[in-house]
Amino acid sequence: MSKIRTIFITGLHRSGTTILDMILGTHSSCIAVGEVDNVIKVGQNRQWIEDHYNRCTCGKCEFWPAVMEAIDQQKSDSLEVRYTIFLKIFSKYFPGKIPIDSSKHLESLHVLSNISDCKSIRIVRDVRGWSVSLSSRITPNNMLRWYWKNRNFQAAAPDTIRIGYEPLVLNPEDTVPALCHTLSLEFEPTMLEINNAKSHILVGNRMRTNQSLKIKYDGRWMEKTSIWPAILFPVMKYNSQQVYGQIDSY
Ligand SMILES: [Zn+2]
Repeated sequence: MSKIRTIFITGLHRSGTTILDMILGTHSSCIAVGEVDNVIKVGQNRQWIEDHYNRCTCGKCEFWPAVMEAIDQQKSDSLEVRYTIFLKIFSKYFPGKIPIDSSKHLESLHVLSNISDCKSIRIVRDVRGWSVSLSSRITPNNMLRWYWKNRNFQAAAPDTIRIGYEPLVLNPEDTVPALCHTLSLEFEPTMLEINNAKSHILVGNRMRTNQSLKIKYDGRWMEKTSIWPAILFPVMKYNSQQVYGQIDSY
């Protein structure tokens, strides 16, 4: 039996993982399921999960309770076993569809890669915009943190597809079709009108809406002056490659 196809999204916090998740989730072959590991790994948060089934972006969820029930029956703490159950129930509820998991953690990516035909995407936001969104200014600390975290991830998961947040949001007409091509998905023009009407996001960043959403870019950083990008020029060089380079090359 061939393995189920999955898509895994990762990237630093505040790098646009939510918007990427939503864009891919509009594809007719895909379903956005949020941060899967945070649902299936629960121990003490179990009650919270149960109390919040009705907060799933689908409105009234039958899928996640079925996953949790099957996990309970198996009584295993192994993340791989739990992910396997998740995929089995997913295929039963949504035959032929591809789940989009925005769990972000490397451990989860490794498990999912073992048990499915997984394509992972790392979204990278311009280091200056990332820093400003975190601290309202461009700081050397933020720049170096951004650099090492992205470098570490790149080294740990070299097969991951990299996409820049800026090209995605500022030029989706070219970037989304290119990303689809890399993922072996047929581009659908409706992907540019985001709505998450058919997603099942229980845990994770979500914008709950049934209406189309305009992709908007937060360009506050462009008004900030800072000497740090000039001083930390190797970080800026890496920034150019990672954010503005071709999608499928490193
Ligand atoms: Zn749901």
